[in-house]
Amino acid sequence: MNNFDKIVNLCKNRGFVFPGSDIYDGLANTWDYGPVGVELKNNIKRAWWKKFVQESHNSFGVDADIFMNSRVWDASGHTASFSDPKMDCKSCKTRHRADNLIEAHAKGKVNPDLMSNEEMEKYIAEHKVACPKCGKSEWTNIRNFNLMFSTSRGVTDDSQNLIYLRPETAQGEFVNFLNVQRSMRAKVPFGIAQIGKAFRNEVTPGNFIFRTIEFEQMEHQWFCKADTSMDFYEEYKKRAMDFLLDLGFNHEHLRYHDHDKLAHYAKAACDIQYQYPIGWEELNGIHHRGDWDLSRHQEYSGKSMFYLDPYTNEKYVPNVIEYSIGCDRLTLAVLCEAYEEQTLEGGDTRVVMHFHPAVAPYKVAILPLQKNLSDKANEVYTKLAKHFMVTYDEAGSIGKRYRRQDEIGTPMCVTIDFDTLENNTVTVRDRDTMEQIRLPIEELVDYVSKKVVF
Ligand code: ATP
Repeated sequence: MNNFDKIVNLCKNRGFVFPGSDIYDGLANTWDYGPVGVELKNNIKRAWWKKFVQESHNSFGVDADIFMNSRVWDASGHTASFSDPKMDCKSCKTRHRADNLIEAHAKGKVNPDLMSNEEMEKYIAEHKVACPKCGKSEWTNIRNFNLMFSTSRGVTDDSQNLIYLRPETAQGEFVNFLNVQRSMRAKVPFGIAQIGKAFRNEVTPGNFIFRTIEFEQMEHQWFCKADTSMDFYEEYKKRAMDFLLDLGFNHEHLRYHDHDKLAHYAKAACDIQYQYPIGWEELNGIHHRGDWDLSRHQEYSGKSMFYLDPYTNEKYVPNVIEYSIGCDRLTLAVLCEAYEEQTLEGGDTRVVMHFHPAVAPYKVAILPLQKNLSDKANEVYTKLAKHFMVTYDEAGSIGKRYRRQDEIGTPMCVTIDFDTLENNTVTVRDRDTMEQIRLPIEELVDYVSKKVVF
């Protein structure tokens, strides 16, 4: 079993992520976060918000509605062209993305992003690119497939209006540019950040939570003046990378990847890729979008998006530097990065998740050495639970209990023993070094607080 499969299994067995609608044999590419996973994901969101809103001077958060006026998607270009080039295999009837087929076949020798649909069809025919499912090379022509999920809104059958589930959170930030600027008396440059759900009817979802049809995005739009925008673009590339390094990622597992083909309005764009067990894949994007988004909303809404600089009296539509990262894709990267199988002295093995303590699902596990110490252990649990997510385990040998906590990445295990009853001290065991120290109970909150700062 490769590491990816082992991580997916661990996720299911240890309460990180379950297959969606499990008891009904699932619904393909939907996943439910379990009790441990929801803590991990919430902590990742908190860490991101801390860096990009709380500690980021002049950045403001919003939480926009998932449903938006359909004109928003006309203005953003999603109704006309948010699509993937799909092809069906005539033999086994499976559906594939033409660009992905070429990428897998050419292994970097050609770049499908730079090809038209006709060029992709020609390449696939000439190279007899095979269907990954059945191995035949009998393809339909390419058809562009819009990725937006639509539904209808209306209280009677004949008054139904078409609305979309948003395919990205960014538009919620753009349409609130004026509201945020005025209500917060914000001065350009400033940022708007949001964490929220997005939905895409992906042609080829898969690889666990890497590509799903419902996912969460963490996006930050930085509004600035054109002549400062390239500097901010570089700054956001660095900030995006620093955030990952601060989370504990090895820099060798991350790389920048500049886009070869830019959207007509974009001045620059790059991704940060992570070396997942499935290969190097996009983790987040940083895009210099010029003044395209605000100009388009100005055109479609009829509302002026001009900003009047109170110091220089200049009037202009701000440029946007967008930083966008998928929360689930980051959660998967955090899981992959944390996973280690260790052989210990004496030949014992353990699986340990080396999460940064700030994102670890539980900060502390309370482990009474024997069941008759549970009153004291509960007292310590109650004390710590006022400050952190804490878990409690009194079943099985202490060694087995340590292993269970290692598998969910709990950074500290607190053992209650008979000395605790005598002198109010406990043993604290470190997940990574497995070293143990003795601490008075009244110092525990301080000790843990210092370890879990991000
Ligand atoms: P990809 O090329 O992988 O489809 P994208 O370039 O379309 O991604 P963006 O539209 O830039 O992605 O979205 C920003 C981020 O949202 C991505 O970097 C990724 O982390 C995340 N994301 C996009 N699509 C999905 C998806 N279907 N499932 C999970 N996360 C996604």
